[in-house]
This record gives sequence, C-alpha cells and structure tokens, in this order.
Amino acid sequence: MILRDRDMRNRAITVMVIILIFLGAYIRMNTRFDRLSRYPYQDKQARKLIDEYLDDDAVNYIIEYAIEPSYFIDLIEAPGFNIYHVEYYRELMRDVNYLTKYDIVAFAEETLKYENGQDIALNLLSAYSTNEVLFWLRNGDPYYPNAELSRTPDFLNIVLNEKTTIANRIPMGLVDASTIGFDEGIQIRTDMQNDLTHMCDALADRYGGFCGGMNIEKAYVSYTDLEEEYRAGESSIPPGHNEHQTGLAIDVSFNDIGADAERKIAWLLQNVEEYGFIRRVYNNEPYIHLRYCTKAFIDQVKKG
Ligand SMILES: [Zn+2]
Repeated sequence: MILRDRDMRNRAITVMVIILIFLGAYIRMNTRFDRLSRYPYQDKQARKLIDEYLDDDAVNYIIEYAIEPSYFIDLIEAPGFNIYHVEYYRELMRDVNYLTKYDIVAFAEETLKYENGQDIALNLLSAYSTNEVLFWLRNGDPYYPNAELSRTPDFLNIVLNEKTTIANRIPMGLVDASTIGFDEGIQIRTDMQNDLTHMCDALADRYGGFCGGMNIEKAYVSYTDLEEEYRAGESSIPPGHNEHQTGLAIDVSFNDIGADAERKIAWLLQNVEEYGFIRRVYNNEPYIHLRYCTKAFIDQVKKG
C-alpha cells in the first residue's frame, strides 16, 4: 500500500511536469506569435524569417512603418544585415550589378563604419568599383594626405598631380599592345589604339620597319607595382598619382643608337601632339614618357 501511494504521487508529479512544459511552450509560442500579430503581411516563410532574424525593436519598426517583406526579406539572412539600412542596400543594388546581395550588405556595413561613408560610397560608385571605394575609405592617400580623389579617373584628359589621386583605380578598357603589333605583355588603353597606330604608320613610312623601330618599354602599371617602384626609388611619382596607372602613358625607346636614334626622337617629339600625345618628363625614367590625351584636348588647351 505504501508503495502504491508513492507510485501514484510520482505519476501525479510526472503529469504536472508535462502539463507545465506544455503550458510553457504554449505561452512562449503565443508571445512569439504576438510579436507579429499586428504585421499585416501573411507570407508564412517571410514571417518565420522575420521572427528568427529581427529583434523586438526591428519588428516594431517594420510594423510601425508597414514595411513589406518583399522590401528586405531577400537580404535578411545576410551576415550583418540591419533593417534600418535597407534603403541604402537597395540604392547600392541599383548602382552595383557585379556583387551578390550578401556582398552588398557586407559592403554597405563596412562603409558605414567611416564618417560620411554612405555619401562617399554613393558618390564614388559611378566611377570606382566597390573594392576601390573601400580602399579609399580605409587608406585615404598615404602619399599626399590632402589630395582629392578624382571623380573621373578614366577620363582621357585627367591630370594627376599632388592634389589629385585615383587611389588604386584599375582603368576600364585596357588592352594588350600586341593587338596593334607591339610585343606581348604590355597593356595600354584602347582609347589610344588608333592614334598610336597612325603615329607608328608615320614613323614606319619615314624610317621603315614596324613603327620605325619604336618600342613600348612600359605602359599601364598597377597601383601595387607602382608602390614597389616608388619604394625602390625607381619612380619619383607615387601610386595613385602616376600616369602609368591610367594606362594612358607609354614609355618609348628606339632600337637604334647614336645619330639615327636622335633623328627619330627629334621627329617624334616634334610630331607627337598631332597624334594626341604630349611629352612629360617623369624623373628617374630612362625612356621618353608620352601621355595620351587626344588631339582635341591638346588643341583646346592651346587655344586657352
Ligand atoms: Zn613613364
């Protein structure tokens, strides 16, 4: 009898515990459900994700402003997602088509760590890639801290100096110079292909051989390589400020030596502007540095 009493008591306790567990779960379900009870959009999958990813403040926010799931639900699982930044994400998605949605969120969140980061990013993205924007936000200009970032880094008439930088920009439209007959492995801007070809034809007419014996020693150089050159003292102009980074500068030489070379160089320097090039002197550079900027621009500058 004593045993049976204890048995019954244990059973009663077990039942009570089970009831309590169910009750707890029921209350919990109800409180969770309550969070979205005033949210008018019934998409079950969306509500589940909202419940999982948004805290109470965020839930209240989407209810208060009646923000539709379709506005943010595709981004909600992205690491770092913040409901208050969705408008910015959407703006970026309109401007940038080469990043995944999740990368857009990561990019946005990183830019927001910097003062005016959002404005700077939205301003620059018409001319720079997201990587280049982040580079600028993180580093600024390590060489001339007061320099401004050009808004038109790929323009043919861009002027780079101590006041203007293109940060680590990689220009659009680089092509191997072998496409117009030079040795492989040197990249130039497609914009100069025609004029450079015409200049080579003129040199060939006059002196024979391909391009009259003129070689391109150097053209486009990346930010990283320019950084190395600058550190090694091989270049006097730092990355970001160096025309070689635009792909619009070529360093040329001639096969010949002595008087033959001098004659060719003299002709070249007298005629480069006809083909849209100007000569600039870059210290420490052993070759002739020519910068392409179009004949039209040279004429315009000459007119004043
Ligand atoms: Zn050069």
